[in-house]
Order: sequence, then structure tokens, then C-alpha cells
Amino acid sequence: MAKLVLKRGADRRLRAGHPWVYRGEIADLKGQWAAGEVVDVVDAGGRFIGRGFYNPRPSLACRLLTRADEPVDAGFFLRRLRAALEYRRSAGILSMSSPLPSAYRLCWSEADGLPGLVVDRYGPVSVIQCLTLGMAQVAPWVAAALAELFPGSSIRRVDDPTAARIEGFETEHGWLGEPGPDEMVISEGPCRFAVAVGSGHKTGFYLDQRENRALVAAHAPGRRVLDAFCYTGAFACHALQAGATGALLLDSSSEALTFARRNLELNGAADRAQLREGNAFDALRQLEAAAERFGLIVLDPPPFTRRKDAVEAAARGYKEINLRGLRLLEPGGVLATFSCSHHVTPALFEEICREAAGDARVEVRLLATLTQSRDHPVLLAVPESRYLTGLLLAGC
Ligand code: SAH
Repeated sequence: MAKLVLKRGADRRLRAGHPWVYRGEIADLKGQWAAGEVVDVVDAGGRFIGRGFYNPRPSLACRLLTRADEPVDAGFFLRRLRAALEYRRSAGILSMSSPLPSAYRLCWSEADGLPGLVVDRYGPVSVIQCLTLGMAQVAPWVAAALAELFPGSSIRRVDDPTAARIEGFETEHGWLGEPGPDEMVISEGPCRFAVAVGSGHKTGFYLDQRENRALVAAHAPGRRVLDAFCYTGAFACHALQAGATGALLLDSSSEALTFARRNLELNGAADRAQLREGNAFDALRQLEAAAERFGLIVLDPPPFTRRKDAVEAAARGYKEINLRGLRLLEPGGVLATFSCSHHVTPALFEEICREAAGDARVEVRLLATLTQSRDHPVLLAVPESRYLTGLLLAGC
């Protein structure tokens, strides 16, 4: 196996528990290697640190898969995925009580010891997403492990095109082996949602907001809800199911709103909901001008930046929608506001919302700081494993 020799001092981050090696930190690559294959990572003195897939193309050239002297083979993937399942079982994330299939993330990349791999489960279907060349090459091992853990289930692959471009591999989309259902109805707490498995955003559904939707719904009874950037309406459905008097759902995508309408119907809430297609930035301004007010507002936009050097522009976007959202809040109303931009830290997001509240001249209490659901775990040593941050605010 090839040896990736780090420059002097470049082992510090790895020894502190972080798994990433950047191209500029590599002093030498000894032996035969091929892009996407496993290499041994050693420090400048030749001491073994761990093993990971190497790819000379992206600046993030290697992410450690293991720190043990163990083969990275089919058995390795089975052990890691079994451990990921065990964590979710013991954390009470798998709900067995519903007669309908439920959905959760089984594997969240670094946070499950499998950097570059996402696996989501929708009832009997596993959806694999490969984010690195190395992972794309071993996808058959991942599929074999899933077939062993979940006998009789079907497996779909939906690779991420951005990651594929950076890493230099061909994306794969489709069923591996026996095809499963393209669409299904899943349950999430008291709600039901139609999901086109493996298409649309993420792997079909925003599983990362599952726990936040329940938290937010607790504030819904008796209130009128604004679900801005609603996608397929999951926040609004939960709020209406919990007793909201009505809801306005905003999204710029007509496909998303078509699904949202179906989801409202599935939850018996269509008669209390209104859907509006358009740019939320404009819609929020128009609602304010029309003196509309809401007792519960959800702002869950797409990432405003994926790059570190664009954080300032993103911050202006977040401030704008939060300023508008706060102005639309009834006295004593509740705002659940989110950012899923990796580079917007919880501290920065709080600062942005503080400024927005100041400009809106609204006094709010911080009810809770929110993050992604526990099936998208955050590794303390890997701050990058946390991408979703949010605040639950209540007007005073
Ligand atoms: N809250 C949703 C997920 C939201 S994802 C859930 O729980 O499932 C972000 C959504 O914002 C997407 O549906 C996307 O279509 C929408 N969107 C992106 N830009 C927008 C804009 N400028 N105005 C309105 N919607 C937008």
C-alpha cells in the first residue's frame, strides 16, 4: 500500500481527532498509488496515523477512514454501518411504533466514521450518496453491507453532482439490483409525507429537520403559521396537525409546492393552508406591506453560501429575511429561523439575528438554539460535521 508522508507539524490536526489531509500538507507519496485507493498516512517521522482514500484532484486529498492497522474491505464497511445503526437504535432514533415506514439518516459521513458516504433509509429502501472518488469506487461493498443489515430491502444510488465534479467521478443514479418503489408515504411523528425517493432535494426529504419540526409544532396550537422556504411543506403540516389555525406556505419551486399540496391533503390540513409560489424575499416584503401578521414563522432557506469567502453576502441575506420575519411576528409570536450554510457558525448566526431584531426594534427571547437532528450527528473534533444551526425566538 502507498504511504502518504505528511509535512512536519501537519499531523497535529489529525492527532487531535480531525480526519482531513489537505494536498498542501503532503510531503511525499511513496509506492504505487492510484486515485481513489487507500493509502497509509504517516507523519514526517514515518509513524502510522491512519488510513484513508487518496485523491490528488481536490484540495482535500485524503480523509482518514481508520486509525487502526486494519484492512479497508467489505467487512470494514459492514462493521461501520452496523455501528451507525446501533448508535441510532440506542439513541431512540428508530421509531418502530408506526405502521407506515419511517425515514432517518443511517450514515452521516465523517460523523459515522465513513467520510464521503451518506446513507438515508426510507422504510425498506436505502439511498446511498457517494461524495468522494474512493467511496464511489467501493459503493458495491456499501451495498453488500446494507443488503446484509437490511435483508430484502432495496438500494438506490443518488450521487451528488457537485462532489462528483470536485472529486472527478461519474455520478450514478438508479437502483442497484432489484428496484424498489419510486415514491412512498413515510410517517414522521403524527404526520405523513409523500416522498419521491432519491429525487428532489437531498435524498428526497429534509430528514435533518425532523426533531426541529416537532419542537416548532409545540408552539403551533391556536396560531397562524408562515412556512417560508417550505419545500414539501413538512413544517406547515406538523404545525397544522398540532393545532395551528391556518398556514401560508411559500416556495419558489412549483414542483415542491405540488408535493406540499399532497402532503397537506395526506394530513387532512389542506383546507387550512394556502400555497404561494415566488421569491420569499419579495413575498416577505409584500406580506409586511399588507400588514399581515403570524403567530408562528419558520424561515428555512437553502444555503446562501457554500464558500467561506462569500459569508458576508450570505449574512446580508440572512439578516434581510430575519428582519422581515421578525416584523411579521404577532406580539408574543414565535420565530424558528435556520441556516444550513456550513460557514455560518452558530455564533455568527446568532449575531446576524441579534442585528435583525435590533433593526426591526423587536425584543425577543431565545427559547432554544437548534441544530440538525441526532441522526446527523456532530463530531466534536470535526466542526464541519455541523452545518445546520437555528434559533427558536419568542417575541416579548
Ligand atoms: N423546510 C423544508 C426545507 C426547505 S429547503 C423542509 O422541512 O422540508 C429550502 C427551500 O427553499 C427549497 O424548497 C427551495 O425551493 C426554496 N427556495 C430557494 N430559494 C428560494 C427563494 N428565493 N424564495 C422562496 N423559496 C426558495
